[in-house]
Amino acid sequence: MTVKEPPVILQIKNLTKRFAAEDGRQLTACDDITVNAYAGQTLGIIGESGCGKSTLVRTVLQITPATSGEVIFEGQDILKLRGEAARQNRRKIQMVFQDPLAAFNPKMKVKEIVTEPLLNFGLIKKSEVNAKAAELLEMVELPPEFMERYPHSLSGGQRQRLGIARALALEPKIVVCDEATSALDVSVQEKICELLVRLQKEKGITYLFICHDIGLVDLMCHQIAVMYLGSIVEYIGGGRRISTDGMHPYTKALMKSVFKVDFKPGERIEPLESEVPSPLDLPPGCPFAGRCEYCTDICRSEKPQLKEVVPGHLVACHLIK
Ligand code: SF4
Repeated sequence: MTVKEPPVILQIKNLTKRFAAEDGRQLTACDDITVNAYAGQTLGIIGESGCGKSTLVRTVLQITPATSGEVIFEGQDILKLRGEAARQNRRKIQMVFQDPLAAFNPKMKVKEIVTEPLLNFGLIKKSEVNAKAAELLEMVELPPEFMERYPHSLSGGQRQRLGIARALALEPKIVVCDEATSALDVSVQEKICELLVRLQKEKGITYLFICHDIGLVDLMCHQIAVMYLGSIVEYIGGGRRISTDGMHPYTKALMKSVFKVDFKPGERIEPLESEVPSPLDLPPGCPFAGRCEYCTDICRSEKPQLKEVVPGHLVACHLIK
């Protein structure tokens, strides 16, 4: 049964990001990406290192300028916003980083870190810092006395809770989680994911969840975009799941290369043998052709386009009709 998606909150349209290499060639990090995020849901973006998933969200957040394309949010292309309009827009789209310690000023106390965005936007007075810090810490299940501590005295999980509290301080509509749980132990990761899910239900936040852990993405996300060499090769929505419904040969190879706790006797982990090719030398046809066991002549000459094969499920592969 196809699940009806809620309203679209963010439209990424034909977004391309190229970097100039030193030898004059172009490195294509994101190639004509089109994908939607839905209100109050989680869009997972998955792929190996170097597939372009982090560049995609950095371009959406205007940390790096796009080469071409649009990002439509609240009826306008936010890539065109400049100055105060861009600053105000940043209130609504926040980010949780993989390594919060690197993102925090080590000389600032927890209460200063968590309330700094509110002070910067003039939303609270200095006299309100302690009360607001206690409220934000409670939201992420940290005790209020932590507000007088420094970030280096917190555990990895506590620091990530602090990162989430800071990201949510401005009550954003969209939160980008860039490998936000990847550096944590599995048990801590589970708790942080539970926290993210609870906060989404309470506040209706939309997450862009960037991750290389396909099992975690399968659990956390309502829609999943699988990226390979700067392109989306599969998009799974409509209530379908990557673990049971993934079709693209790359998605299947990713699934087979993952360790699962419920392995059946005789089942094998099959590592993806070769490295992702350089985005400087993109092959003319299917980006996965060099690693695909089903590759035929057309795959080497013609790039397959994403097409809907089941309602809400798009695949870019000549093999799948
Ligand atoms: Fe493999 Fe060809 Fe499909 Fe690419 S288009 S994934 S090379 S079968």
